[in-house]
Amino acid sequence: MSKQVQQVAIITGASRGIGAAVAARLARDGFAVVINYASSADQADRLVGALRETGARAIAVRANVASAAEVTQLFDTTERELGKVDVLVNNAGIMKVAQLADTSDALFDQTFDVNVRGSFNTMREAARRMNSGGRIVNFSSTALALNMPGYAIYNATKAAVESFTHVFAKELRGRHITVNAVAPGPVATDLLLDGKTSEQIAHFASMPPLERLGQPDDVADVVSFLAGPDARWVNGQVLRANGGLA
Ligand code: NAP
Repeated sequence: MSKQVQQVAIITGASRGIGAAVAARLARDGFAVVINYASSADQADRLVGALRETGARAIAVRANVASAAEVTQLFDTTERELGKVDVLVNNAGIMKVAQLADTSDALFDQTFDVNVRGSFNTMREAARRMNSGGRIVNFSSTALALNMPGYAIYNATKAAVESFTHVFAKELRGRHITVNAVAPGPVATDLLLDGKTSEQIAHFASMPPLERLGQPDDVADVVSFLAGPDARWVNGQVLRANGGLA
């Protein structure tokens, strides 16, 4: 009888927020998980420790997804320590709200570097070396559909990610790899909460008909579906997980 090989998942930006919840959920689903982060080494190490206590295989790997060389090293380390990649979750992302007229060149570059180039770097690497039958889950945002003032640069990066998702799903024909995206509505993480007043947060919480902010686990469960066997026939789609906000 052949021994079942444990599948390997890379989750970018998994030291905190939604990515940390996705890593915990995929570990519970039976994946060996790679917790990628940019600077929060302590939080990434703590998550690795907590997951290992449950019997999961988990490692933390620092890599700025905006750097192609660091992303190559991320895949190198993953293959060396855990094996070839089956699931890639492109969760790492940043959001700074600013009116277009007030957006600096530096903010434009930083947002596109992390959100767009970051997803591009990992997808290109995945195309070269991911196992057939694998899953890629990208991160868009429901903000894209809302067209709120201040979100032009962020939304433009997520529009690019959705384009990558649709095209890459077709380019991987023959490899049995699905490429989908999840587009959360407002989720209670640093990315949303930092710098906002309690009134602003209450406003975001009141927007979905389900009348609350999303929690990281709400999104992690959707990623688990897209990364798991039940989503085998879902490909090239954007799943808007947002409590009905439109
Ligand atoms: P978050 O709480 O701010 O966490 C962001 C994560 O990304 C952190 O682990 C951070 O690592 C990592 N990261 C940032 N820059 C990176 C880089 N250059 N390379 C590698 N990792 C990097 O954000 P979140 O709310 O969980 O957001 C996760 C994803 O969901 C993002 O793509 C975001 O656009 C999307 N999203 C969020 C919401 C929301 O309301 N929260 C709604 C829709 C979509 P360090 O800790 O090391 O900095």
